Parts: sequence; C-alpha cells; structure tokens
Amino acid sequence: MKQPFRTGFGFDVHAFAKDRKLIIGGIEIANDMGLLGHSDADVLLHAICDAMLGALSLGDIGMHFPETDKRYKDADSSELLRIVNNLIKEKGYIFGNLDAMIAMEKPRIAPFIPAMKEKISLIIGCDEDQISIKASTTEKLGFIGRGEGVSAFASVLLVNGDK
Ligand SMILES: [Zn+2]
Repeated sequence: MKQPFRTGFGFDVHAFAKDRKLIIGGIEIANDMGLLGHSDADVLLHAICDAMLGALSLGDIGMHFPETDKRYKDADSSELLRIVNNLIKEKGYIFGNLDAMIAMEKPRIAPFIPAMKEKISLIIGCDEDQISIKASTTEKLGFIGRGEGVSAFASVLLVNGDK
C-alpha cells in the first residue's frame, strides 16, 4: 500500500581542506578553505539527498552515486539532488517540506541561507517556504568547534501524489 506520507532523515560530514571551493546548499562561499570530497562535497545537499532517498527506502547517496564512479568526480551536487528529486516523482510522491541544520564554526553561514533556500527550491520545484535551513555552531566543541569540518542534518516529508 502506498502511504499518504513518508518522512526521511539524512546526515553528512565533510572535512575542511586547502585548495577546495566551499560549496554549501548549492552556493559558493568565499573562504580560505573548502570541503574535501569526491564530488563538490556539498554537505547540505548530500544530507538532503539522503533524507529524500530514506523517505522512500531507496538506500543512500553512496549507493546511487558511488565514490568509485568517475562520473561523480567533482560532481555538482545540485545535479545529484535533481536526480534524487526525479526519483521521488517517479515513485508518485510530491515534495512536502524540508527542515535542515548546518553545524559549523566559521565562516558565518546565516547570510547565505536565503540564497541556499532559493537555489534548493528551484531544483526541487517548490516554494521557498517549503525549505527551512538553520545554522548552528557546537560551542567550540569537537571537530566542528575546532573548525576541522562541517555537519549537516536534514529531515523531509513526502506526500502521496495520487489524487
Ligand atoms: Zn557528502
């Protein structure tokens, strides 16, 4: 039976590294370091992809876009989100809403959140008020607090698209 609602949760971490662009939520942020990864290491979009895949029990981002696959070397994660969003539509579900959290020490991310919301809503094809992105530090604790990396968490709700 096709459920009326499905929720999903996603989590991701990437480490800071020199000579990398900092791309979070599809937005390039000027910074002396970026995030390390096989793709563009967009920690937020990866958490969102995992939440969407999880909502439909479709596995995880590593299964769909393996690091061993050269096609995804330096991949634009916006494109990965577009692919995952299409999977949702193919399964007959409609995107309901997203609530996400970025945990990082610096740079300050809040000024970039409106642009992230706009970008993600355009990829998914929804209104900006269906997208919530929040930012937090970890009070200087742990690897995030030491500025060694960034975490992102995402929760999504999908709605059965059948009339
Ligand atoms: Zn990732």
